[in-house]
Amino acid sequence: MTKKTMKFKTELEQLLHLITHSLYSHREVFLRELISNACDAIDKVRFEGLNNPELLDGEADWKISIRADKEAKTLTISDNGIGMSREQVVENLGTIAHSGTKAFLARAKEIGAENNPELIGQFGVGFYASFMVADNVTVVSKAHGEEAVKWESTGTGSFTLSDADKAHRGTDITLHLKEDAEEYLDEWTIRSTVKKFSDFLEHPVVLFTTEKDEEKGTEEEKEEQINTQKAIWLRQKSEIKAEEYAEFYKHISHDMADPAETIHYNAEGAIEFKALLFIPEAKPFDMMMNNDPKAHLNLYVQRVFISNEFDNLLPGYLRFVKGVVDSSDLPLNVSREILQENPMLDKIRKNLVGRVLKTLAQMKTKNYDKFLKFHEEFSTILKEGLQSDWENKEKIADLLLFETTAKESGEKTCLADYVENMADGQEEILYLAGENRTSIENSPYLESFKADGKEVLLMIDPIDDFVIPQLMEYKGKKLKAVNKGDLEEDAEKLKKEEKQFKGFIGFAKDLLDGVKEVKLTTRLKDSAAVLVGDEYSMSPHIEEMMRRMGQEVPKRESVLELNPEHPVVQKVQALYDADKKDPKVGTLTKLLHDQAVIASGAKLDDPAGFAARLNEVLAEE
Ligand code: ADP
Repeated sequence: MTKKTMKFKTELEQLLHLITHSLYSHREVFLRELISNACDAIDKVRFEGLNNPELLDGEADWKISIRADKEAKTLTISDNGIGMSREQVVENLGTIAHSGTKAFLARAKEIGAENNPELIGQFGVGFYASFMVADNVTVVSKAHGEEAVKWESTGTGSFTLSDADKAHRGTDITLHLKEDAEEYLDEWTIRSTVKKFSDFLEHPVVLFTTEKDEEKGTEEEKEEQINTQKAIWLRQKSEIKAEEYAEFYKHISHDMADPAETIHYNAEGAIEFKALLFIPEAKPFDMMMNNDPKAHLNLYVQRVFISNEFDNLLPGYLRFVKGVVDSSDLPLNVSREILQENPMLDKIRKNLVGRVLKTLAQMKTKNYDKFLKFHEEFSTILKEGLQSDWENKEKIADLLLFETTAKESGEKTCLADYVENMADGQEEILYLAGENRTSIENSPYLESFKADGKEVLLMIDPIDDFVIPQLMEYKGKKLKAVNKGDLEEDAEKLKKEEKQFKGFIGFAKDLLDGVKEVKLTTRLKDSAAVLVGDEYSMSPHIEEMMRRMGQEVPKRESVLELNPEHPVVQKVQALYDADKKDPKVGTLTKLLHDQAVIASGAKLDDPAGFAARLNEVLAEE
């Protein structure tokens, strides 16, 4: 093959620019990223080799080597892992692996992430971090049964590909260090950086140094393993420092911040495994970008990394949890597909879910401020569990916080406290979902509850309207949306009015489009009219959201409830009784409906008609 120059995808060029300029103060992470990749490459070939031993080329002495050449000013990180074919090199190092890059860049600009290394770090800059310290990077790689290939780039727009000489499977990455990064040629710096980031890696990281004997004129190569290689999850909890946990967390999550919570335990009994789980402090960037609904937990079997793609190890609603599970009960020598079916995984999952939920419950009671932050970041994801994990529904519900009419805006309550404070004789947990607190706080739906001193939960997370109805009840109390279904009304109280309004109600029902019923209500105090949906209907603000996303929304059939004590309602009814044909009756009835639509948070179908009606009435006064 002759030498060939290829251009990076444009997004990649932008990303490189962003990385090299904004992560400057964190640039030592380049070593962590390269060693992590080397470690992954070894894990891959070791796993593939279980079923396909010839892939190993007779090799089992796994090693990640680091060589510093002070004269040439190069640092080389080598592994004897799976290697890459020519196509894989182009695919992995020429185009960006993360599909959300473009969106990421746009968002990074929007929120000013250029100056925020934590945010960029969360994205996982990987291999490209090399360009923070190097002005030229060479990758020589050889996969089993493939020719070796050389990739070279200065990180500015293009890379070249050419043939290479390499006898063994694996990858060598050579960085020609920038002048201001020559400290990474220093053994002490290398040793301390590796210790910090990669001490627990299960493969040896070996530093090769050459020692010159000036007198004899000879050179001797010395090798020294610099990581202790103790899988952190196998160690005693009492021996592990918080910094070690944090570094391990950063290694598996690519997060730059420390975890909010660390859960480390041995499960014993029917199933035995070790788990080390972390709850991040904030939503990582890739979770925001890809919105991958799957949980990724690293599964090891007897310390051999198997996969981080088992859907059934943790449910999707706990996908913010990062960590490792190591089981010696699972069979090692099988394919991932077969392992995926193993009933043992279900048992492990149940156990992990229980632990995570218990930890969150403890956080809520013991460290409420920390829990609030967790809730802010992850409750939207957690709530998905109300729909998918029936067994743990109540435990998940225990962890949810909501705004409430009983507290100032921004302050929250939980369902347990709500139930505790329920008014005498109150049987249901009342809630109203809407777009934001201000829009629902003054909603007509709340009038009667306010008057009765009943607390109503104000749900303003868009997902609430989808998932809260799934909860059905909490501690034996039914959940009830105050803008849906019937209220317990004082039927006696309305008897007289019903007779009086009967004719007008029939008229209004025939006149109004999309209204299946018109009736009187005691739920209103100051407002004249309100629209009420079916118990299981979508809320108007969700309909509105779907419409904005271009989705078709079925025409709603709602109930228009009128307040017989309101002067406007009384006036229209009186006009109707005086003269059924009076055109004003139609106009005013439609206006009553219009205002109920607006107050519900939905949009008017015919705003121009509304304006005309309003003007007609205003002109008269
Ligand atoms: P990430 O590791 O997050 O996927 P990187 O940019 O670090 O992203 O690497 C891109 C891809 O290049 C990796 O997913 C892997 O397939 C490949 N790769 C990187 N380093 C090596 C290596 N030392 N050996 C084999 N493949 C590698």
